[in-house]
Amino acid sequence: MDYVIDPLQQAAAPVAGGGLFPVRRIFCIGRNYAEHVREMGGDPKANPPVFFTKPADAVVPDGALIPYAQATDNLHFEGELVVALKSGGKALDAAAARAAIYGYAAGCDLTRRDHQARAKDAGAPWDTAKAFDASAPLGDILPAEKAGDLSGARLQTVVNGETRQDASLEDMIWSVEDIIVTLSQQFELQAGDLIFTGTPEGVGALQPGDAVNIAIGPLSLAFRISA
Ligand code: MN
Repeated sequence: MDYVIDPLQQAAAPVAGGGLFPVRRIFCIGRNYAEHVREMGGDPKANPPVFFTKPADAVVPDGALIPYAQATDNLHFEGELVVALKSGGKALDAAAARAAIYGYAAGCDLTRRDHQARAKDAGAPWDTAKAFDASAPLGDILPAEKAGDLSGARLQTVVNGETRQDASLEDMIWSVEDIIVTLSQQFELQAGDLIFTGTPEGVGALQPGDAVNIAIGPLSLAFRISA
């Protein structure tokens, strides 16, 4: 049977050193750093980490110029470590979770904070707050063997030359391994999945023309919001 419209293009993200990583699903973790939970008015004990998703085609490559998102007056940056999976499965144990990792990237979970606040008040889904077009800027993916041990790395987000986020990945409530194990109890993970692992404290609003740089050890991401 022929497609009745043109088949969709495979969403993909560049790999450092060459090649493209095909993106299947984008899973995201909210509330994975205690200080960020507190700055959002929550309690890390009462509000454990939570999952949400973005569409695969929300990925934007390194160095992009991104339009200020429509339908918001409060577009926030959230610098995050992103994990790319080369395999998957259900109910993975810790060893299988580690073995599923292809590599890592620096990412930004762009968020319409006004929509998120309304959704929280209404007990409504977060889709319009999180899953909008171009909401997932992503630096080049570095294969795990080149990235080395990132557990003690710092995550730094710099906006217009000013450091806004500076935290250790050791502050994550759920480690990368914990996240993959827990996600695989809810979803059958597959090769091509990306996981945004949550943001530390220091999130804030972006304005048209802003330049954002996110660095995590050997990983980096740069993008600008169009003026
Ligand atoms: Mn986030």
